[in-house]
Amino acid sequence: MPNAARATATKIRIPQFEPLLGDEELAQLRECIETGWLTEGPKTAEFIDRLAALTGAKHVILAPNGTLALYMALSVCGIGPGDEVIVPDFTFLGSASSIALTGARPVFADINRETFNLDAEAVRQALSPRTRAIMPVHIYGQAAEMAPLLELAKQENLFVIEDAAQGIGVSYRNRHAGTLGDLGCLSFFADKTITTGEGGAILTSNDEFADRLQYFRNQGRLNRGSFIHPQMGWNFRLTDLQSGIGLAQLDRLETIIERKRQIEQLYKSRLDGLEDVEFPSAKEPQCRVPFRMNILVPDPEGLAEHLAREGVGVRRFFYPLHRQPCFNEQNSRTGGALVNSISAFDRGLSLPSSVKLTEQDIDTVCDAIDAFFQ
Ligand SMILES: *Cc1c(COP(=O)(O)O)cnc(C)c1O
Repeated sequence: MPNAARATATKIRIPQFEPLLGDEELAQLRECIETGWLTEGPKTAEFIDRLAALTGAKHVILAPNGTLALYMALSVCGIGPGDEVIVPDFTFLGSASSIALTGARPVFADINRETFNLDAEAVRQALSPRTRAIMPVHIYGQAAEMAPLLELAKQENLFVIEDAAQGIGVSYRNRHAGTLGDLGCLSFFADKTITTGEGGAILTSNDEFADRLQYFRNQGRLNRGSFIHPQMGWNFRLTDLQSGIGLAQLDRLETIIERKRQIEQLYKSRLDGLEDVEFPSAKEPQCRVPFRMNILVPDPEGLAEHLAREGVGVRRFFYPLHRQPCFNEQNSRTGGALVNSISAFDRGLSLPSSVKLTEQDIDTVCDAIDAFFQ
């Protein structure tokens, strides 16, 4: 498997990603330690309220990470052995492993060649009598084309579970990513737009799902402080330490998104003249947060190795799920040809895109790209 990071022992001077953290996050942690409240408490309650206000979701249920958020969402829909869920072939593993780990089978469908998002026609071809749900992914912070997927789900009586792990701050037709389907999942991993270290959330407007999620994550009961458990459940709670960091990060969200847009503009103006470098298509700004600084080139592995030697941290695009060694014919199925997913992997590279990048850093990266193509 290609791994640009391992290609060289050169020290990385410009990392592919770094979170933006500072005094505000420290103050939140200090408060938790001084008050002695570490588990879910006042900061978690506030974090939930702030996420609900931001996304417009009726219910926000926190999860230990994005993968478990997806697993919880699938589980409360009753999805399990014998069922199939259609997922794009081009996404992070967690989208599909969360399906497989319920006992259901992920079915990989192709993406749109331009946007890298799930293609409704490919989904239609991947349907079977066992299909129970569709999982659109708002990949690289660009809203998936939801209207045809929602329409298809309605016709076929399927659940829609959105993977909005990369979608905070992203809207589709004036609704926040993750609030269009039955359930939607966010991630707050360290390289997402905002972070709690590890963390995730499920958005839903459905009261019954919200209730089931509470039982599921909280040892089979609705409230803490009782030793009576009507159901069997997991402990999938967060901590106030994480929620505190999340509150400080939410205060930065607008600044982070603004800076991501500026960084993308800087890169684009610097790389514009290079014939071999293309930029993926971009929807209007409200539908998109530039989650990564992505380029399309003829030989991403060669460029990745060159940049690593120059001390620049880069990442290849997602590896097509149908090629993942952890999936086989028993636990997965492909819903047709997956040419666009393969093409995205074969061309894509994510450049450094932390909001901590300086203009000087961007110049260094672009000079190194220039040199590669000379
Ligand atoms: C990060 C990510 C996940 C998983 O989130 P974790 O919090 O890392 O478990 C799932 N899907 C996509 C598209 C992601 O980017």
